[in-house]
Amino acid sequence: MKDTILRVALPAPVWTLYDYLPPADIDPALLQPGQRLRVPLGNGRRCGLLVELAQKSSVARGKLKPALALLDRAAPLLPPEQLDFLRWVADYYHHPLGEVLFSALPARLRKGRALARDPSRVLFLLERDEARLEEMLRRATAQLRVVRWLLAHGGEATEAAFRKDFPKGLAPLRALLNRGVVEWRAPLPPQPRLAAAPTLSSEQQQAVDQVAASFGGFRPWLLQGVTGSGKTEVYLQLAARVLARGRSVLVLVPEIALTPQLVGRFRERLGLEPALLHSARADGERERDWLRAKSGRAPLVIGTRSAVLAPLPELGLVVVDEEHDGSYKQQEGARYSARDLALVRAQRAGCPVVLGSATPSLESLKNAREGRYGWLRLNQRVGGGRMPAMRLLDVRAQPLEGGLSRPLLARMEETLVAGRQVMVFLNRRGYAPVVICHACGWLSDCPHCDARQTLHRAWKRLVCHHCGAERPLPSHCPACGADQLHPLGQGTERLERELARRFGGYPLVRIDRDTTSRRGSLEELLNQVRAGGPALLVGTQMLAKGHHFPEMALVVVVDLDAGLFSADFRAAERTAQLVVQVAGRAGRERHAGEVVLQTRFPDHPLLQTLVNGGYEAFAEEALAERRLAALPPYSYQALLRAAAVKMARAEAFLARAADLASEIAGSSVAIWGPVPAPMPRRANRYRAQLLFQADERPVLQRMLNRLVPRLSELPEGRGVRWSLDVDPVDLY
Ligand code: ADP
Ligand code: ZN
Ligand code: ZN
Repeated sequence: MKDTILRVALPAPVWTLYDYLPPADIDPALLQPGQRLRVPLGNGRRCGLLVELAQKSSVARGKLKPALALLDRAAPLLPPEQLDFLRWVADYYHHPLGEVLFSALPARLRKGRALARDPSRVLFLLERDEARLEEMLRRATAQLRVVRWLLAHGGEATEAAFRKDFPKGLAPLRALLNRGVVEWRAPLPPQPRLAAAPTLSSEQQQAVDQVAASFGGFRPWLLQGVTGSGKTEVYLQLAARVLARGRSVLVLVPEIALTPQLVGRFRERLGLEPALLHSARADGERERDWLRAKSGRAPLVIGTRSAVLAPLPELGLVVVDEEHDGSYKQQEGARYSARDLALVRAQRAGCPVVLGSATPSLESLKNAREGRYGWLRLNQRVGGGRMPAMRLLDVRAQPLEGGLSRPLLARMEETLVAGRQVMVFLNRRGYAPVVICHACGWLSDCPHCDARQTLHRAWKRLVCHHCGAERPLPSHCPACGADQLHPLGQGTERLERELARRFGGYPLVRIDRDTTSRRGSLEELLNQVRAGGPALLVGTQMLAKGHHFPEMALVVVVDLDAGLFSADFRAAERTAQLVVQVAGRAGRERHAGEVVLQTRFPDHPLLQTLVNGGYEAFAEEALAERRLAALPPYSYQALLRAAAVKMARAEAFLARAADLASEIAGSSVAIWGPVPAPMPRRANRYRAQLLFQADERPVLQRMLNRLVPRLSELPEGRGVRWSLDVDPVDLY
């Protein structure tokens, strides 16, 4: 064991592991992959993660330094199967392992802090043969006393009980821990106490039965259910069954902050406190829940994207709610898709995974159609509510008032007068997307980006939504000095103001990032609407996610057209999903709902198919188009992005990367670019990109395996920030 080399990952953008000798005072037999170590690096010290124990190092023996301390003595912080999974993630997304490992840890633990002690942990006696214990501890009377006491307590006791009976018993306890006679263990997980569940509809029952029949083995399921069809109820009943089998459940949601009711439903139904893993939580709370999840004491974990990286022993079911949602894709660092990783985890754990949505991604639909996923359908709304009728409103020849046409305003008024609620959806926050000078044509450009600064009138500021740069709203034109600055176009702030003027007597609630930044403010706003009575609700896509508004009778989509003519081939899919999701907020329960889509392109084939045939018909057409164009999901892509202070530098780096790629892969991988990014300048950096595409995943992966390590060595890469995005969802 003298020769043991520790191969350690550090949270840094490097492709190698660092080699160390074991810490001087540590028995190498105590070392296990997944433990944290404090190691020297340069003149400083860092927290690293032990990845492998090796016999040889490429570094000369004399140059190896010993690690300074072992930070996780008892058990590895990352259990072996977790370490293995995260290595897979780093390989697949071609991202440095150290960054992947550390991004999977709670913030405090990344810095090398000690684990928060678990006050409920129990002392567990490993050796139970009394005669052997007496023999072994013949000369250690204090230790023997502790052991006898433990035997009298059935072999285990809580820390509190131990401290009460042995106020000065720390030294013998430490000796027993070192001898391996006793160890600390997490207490048993709480037993769920199930609350009464509603009787399932026959569609729901079928879904539950089919998934339950697949327990104990890997099986992906697509649960396609219209909004309000009771998908969550299906998750709840499946979770109850899995918990009853002593296995744990992971539920991924797009944004917990937007759907606190969902957490409440799980908590109340299953009668246990879920571990909540999402970024809006304080570090300490999150760490405690992460540790509860890891130790198996929180058999129910609910979280956003990054929760898929948490250690979850005994996993028996994974649920991905709103699986089509773009927020499952990480957009910096290792750009993983939590939806895709949920499948990988389920496969490794040998359990089913349920992907739920009213508007499944084309990727998942294709898999369901081809039989790789089981396909479960919920076509009926619970309680018999009808799906709202959608209609297109041609606004080409219409004068608009505040962005809304007269017949529409009249319809809104009727609805309010009848005591019902109206929702107006506009996916643009702020007052106006640009300010213009009518005298000279000056526009409120962002000085750092190829974009405009948005007017936020309440703050009297111009704000760039891409780089965050802001300035006070000038009173006169900065170019010509004229007093003729005018807001152009419309955001939710302006819409709110104009609706307030027109429908002054009715309660009006605006929901977007600006009105809900304070914790709990979203719930307050939503409760005002849920309280019932006539009301107007204005907002961005935050409205589209999961909320339940029983009184909503009319949903208006102000401007549908922006999504129709984008350069991104996924724009149509996203627009269709958004429209159907927003529409789904109408007409639940008592009222048949109505959905009006304002457009200047009423003949657009996508809109026609969506309105007349629904999401299914749209998806079928869109898949056929993708197949013809050999686009994902009928092919596999990776996007190499580069940014530099000069465009030429970014492009030179990518051109070299393109050469290397074609050398490696020949014609098996198509290479497009380099081309400037759709927004070439952002935060004063020029951005360009290179797209790789192959017919099969392994072909693309094999090329990337060889390409990516060489990229960091390219001389053209100096001064260039680059990143690779495997399975990109946004081509910007
Ligand atoms: P989805 O997740 O598909 O939007 P939910 O599961 O939230 O739908 O169900 C919508 C509403 O119907 C919820 O208030 C839920 O409590 C209720 N519900 C769901 N299933 C049933 C059922 N089988 N019997 C009675 N109520 C149900
Ligand atoms: Zn001017
Ligand atoms: Zn900017």
